[in-house]
Amino acid sequence: MTFGVKMVPIQIAGGGLAGLTLGIGLRQAGVPVTVFEAGGYPRHRVCGEFIAGRGLDALAALGLRAKFLKAGAVEAQTALFSVGSARSLIRRLPRPALCLSRFILDKLLADEFVALGGDLRAGTRWAGGFGEGTVRASGRRPSQVQDGAVWFGLKIHARNVPGDAGLEIHVLKNGYVGLCRLADGWVNVCGLFRKDRQEQRENRGAELLRGPPGSLLHERLARAEFDESSFCAVAGLSLKAERAMGRAECRLGDALTMIPPVTGNGMSLAIESASLALPPLAAFSRGEISWVRARGVVAARCDGAFRRRLRWAALLQHAMLSRGVSGLLMALRSNWFWRTAFSLTR
Ligand SMILES: Cc1cc2nc3c(=O)[nH]c(=O)nc-3n(C[C@H](O)[C@H](O)[C@H](O)COP(=O)(O)OP(=O)(O)OC[C@H]3O[C@@H](n4cnc5c(N)ncnc54)[C@H](O)[C@@H]3O)c2cc1C
Repeated sequence: MTFGVKMVPIQIAGGGLAGLTLGIGLRQAGVPVTVFEAGGYPRHRVCGEFIAGRGLDALAALGLRAKFLKAGAVEAQTALFSVGSARSLIRRLPRPALCLSRFILDKLLADEFVALGGDLRAGTRWAGGFGEGTVRASGRRPSQVQDGAVWFGLKIHARNVPGDAGLEIHVLKNGYVGLCRLADGWVNVCGLFRKDRQEQRENRGAELLRGPPGSLLHERLARAEFDESSFCAVAGLSLKAERAMGRAECRLGDALTMIPPVTGNGMSLAIESASLALPPLAAFSRGEISWVRARGVVAARCDGAFRRRLRWAALLQHAMLSRGVSGLLMALRSNWFWRTAFSLTR
């Protein structure tokens, strides 16, 4: 808290992970903050619900990691990959990940922001510009067609799903499904799918998440009980990496760039981008630097932190989702490949 200095207020459009994490960090620094969120809390969202990598350090620095654990986050220690009926060995994650339902997580962050004195306008869509003092944290930029295909995501929670790894990634012909173990026996079943533009096939919704008969995924979900109220879908995903430098807006999280979901690192990037933005935005609020300077420093810090990871993530996603995935499982059988792929995308 800075006494005797009139702080310039900051507006944030978007109360998802990036917006709320930034709001919490700024409130901890005594900055007056308003977050505009088009939706409400709590609500289910299409997400693998698996937080891994450096975002965990940013959460700990804000005092949020312990709160996530108290709210029921569980640690994932291991991962397994499968293609059809073939499967890799169970691999130990280089560092445990945190798994928590977005239904709980986003509400927890919203409550924390309000408890710190933040002004949260839920159910209010920001329709203004992104000039001085306004941050865009409004999530993914929709893109109807990318590389000749439409990408869409589905998710549902289920119980009675056998398995021995904290995270399972099942690669399918047209995408992948992740199974992430949550608290109390629940498993998050979340998939990213590609539908080619010329394909006329009907979208079979939640059925797609079960995988084709004969696959390990199908076997895992054979006796699953689904929580229908948790089902959600999102379409028109843009999976393109973007640079922050040169933009006339201050953007964070998916609004800045989207890392391929298969890396399980989008939430981490959202949290990290907020944490990288904190010092320059707080300095702007205290009147120490101009908005243009603050925006430039945020962009340079985000580009510096994410450029290499985004490049490797795009390569990994291409390898996983290209039509010929037979070599992938072979690669994932190699402990060296697995550890390298994990660390290069984090
Ligand atoms: C299929 C799939 C699986 C994924 N799995 C994982 C995973 O396992 N691990 C992982 O780390 N990441 C995963 N991700 C990515 C992760 O969900 C996102 O990267 C993360 O949610 C980005 O956070 P954000 O705050 O930038 O955006 P969001 O969490 O999307 O928040 C943006 C918010 O802005 C609001 N909003 C939008 N426009 C406005 C406006 N004009 N005014 C006010 N509010 C507005 C929206 O309602 C929303 O609440 C996955 C994504 C997909 C699609």
